[in-house]
Amino acid sequence: MRALHWFRADLRLRDNLALEEAARADECLPFFVLDEAILRGSRTGAPRVRFLLECLRALRRELAARGSTLLVLRGDPAAEIARLLGATRAELVTWGRCETPLARRRDARVRAVARRAGARTLETKDDVVFGSEEVRTRTGGAFAVYTPYRNAWEARLLAEPQPPRRAPRLPPPIPNVEGDLGVALPSPEELGFGESRAELPVAGEEAAHSRLERFLSKAVRSYTTDRDMPAREGTSRLSPYLRFGVISARACVSAARACADDDRSAAEGSRKWVDELVWREFYRAILAENPRVQRGCYRKEYDALAWNEDPEAFAAWCQGRTGYPIVDAAMRELAATGWMHNRLRMIVASFLTKDLLLDWRLGERFFFRALVDGDPASNNGGWQWSASTGSDAQPYFRIFNPVSQGLKFDREGSFVRRWVPELEGVDERFLHAPWEMPHPPKDYPPPMVSHAERRRTALRRFEAVRRAKEGARRRGA
Ligand SMILES: Cc1cc2nc3c(=O)[nH]c(=O)nc-3n(C[C@H](O)[C@H](O)[C@H](O)COP(=O)(O)OP(=O)(O)OC[C@H]3O[C@@H](n4cnc5c(N)ncnc54)[C@H](O)[C@@H]3O)c2cc1C
Repeated sequence: MRALHWFRADLRLRDNLALEEAARADECLPFFVLDEAILRGSRTGAPRVRFLLECLRALRRELAARGSTLLVLRGDPAAEIARLLGATRAELVTWGRCETPLARRRDARVRAVARRAGARTLETKDDVVFGSEEVRTRTGGAFAVYTPYRNAWEARLLAEPQPPRRAPRLPPPIPNVEGDLGVALPSPEELGFGESRAELPVAGEEAAHSRLERFLSKAVRSYTTDRDMPAREGTSRLSPYLRFGVISARACVSAARACADDDRSAAEGSRKWVDELVWREFYRAILAENPRVQRGCYRKEYDALAWNEDPEAFAAWCQGRTGYPIVDAAMRELAATGWMHNRLRMIVASFLTKDLLLDWRLGERFFFRALVDGDPASNNGGWQWSASTGSDAQPYFRIFNPVSQGLKFDREGSFVRRWVPELEGVDERFLHAPWEMPHPPKDYPPPMVSHAERRRTALRRFEAVRRAKEGARRRGA
């Protein structure tokens, strides 16, 4: 029997159920499709494409070391897979399920193509520990609030532990296909993504697992406190790997739980860390159940919120020259590395939506292009959380003050000094509010808005929407 395994966001050999299924065949050809529509899409940016290409190179090396190969195709996945099925006469195509609206549309077309070619398709759960249909309320509904979701998720894990699986033995690839159909793995320049110089993490499964081991051997013990300190290596930085499935969520959860069992001092941190992985699955479930959140607010009433139109303010935010040091340092870190610390993502998102009063969708789009870990569900969830428009979001009246956030989470200012060289020599007392200095640095901008004023405006706008909703409810009652 001949099988094809379609690698997508599962760029790994270990704990890959779809690959394991395909590997039961006599011949198995693993392939990846560089989707032309995604590559040309306005939401795709250089850091993620560069990291993807590096991960594909690493995967190809791993496959070659096991006597297999990675066929690279380029174009529309359904058309490419139709061609591949025609050329190989494979009877089975496997892939890991993905629940984003785009993936669902694409996969429906691929299923139809396979059916026409007389091939069977097999989809497995490889992106999450539990999919949206597996974590339900007592009445079978979807959760809208994180804590009960997490409790149900944990109960399910207790009942059905999901141990990660080893990499399968791979049968030989289907011969005489690669030269005819495949393309060489392109460079970022060839794909038009040569401009970025962001320092990216080392690609590949080995790198992901050693990062996990390193995190669990040390930083996890202080995770509950250090996870909010951007100047420290307090978090795992596994998000780019999880984004492309270079490591599985099952492997992460299982290793964290084992670490907690072995070492009591790691128990609290491990538990908190698993909670974060559950947020990832919560947001995936929210998007799967409510595809409309890609365009509109989860809480529909907030679609009526008034936002400012201010391209100059948006540009200043993007470029890290708002005059608020913690915001600017974070945005510059993003530009330089394609990554941003979670606390800072919350601060800059709050600043965009509640200080600049700009639509969260602008920030979401900018982040998605810029982030190496840009993920449709987590990015949308994070933005809607910060803008207070999401499911189980930050309450609208809790608006981050960028100065006190800076003081609280970067008190000594080492993070700000690293990314905003104009402030390097500024005394700690003034670092998060340099405009209060007798002679502020001339090469650093003054704050572009007054936080106190903008906070009042944001509150008024949210309250207007709430009053309108309440009025409509009363009239309807
Ligand atoms: C505005 C905004 C946008 C975001 N956009 C993305 C995005 O595009 N892609 C992305 O992976 N994460 C996103 N996040 C979530 C979070 O910031 C990152 O996952 C985290 O910073 C990654 O760092 P880490 O791997 O060191 O995390 P750790 O603290 O080590 O956490 C482990 C893993 O848990 C998951 N995780 C952690 N926090 C969250 C969270 N709040 N929501 C969902 N998953 C989480 C990630 O997969 C992460 O790798 C966003 C958050 C906000 C506030």
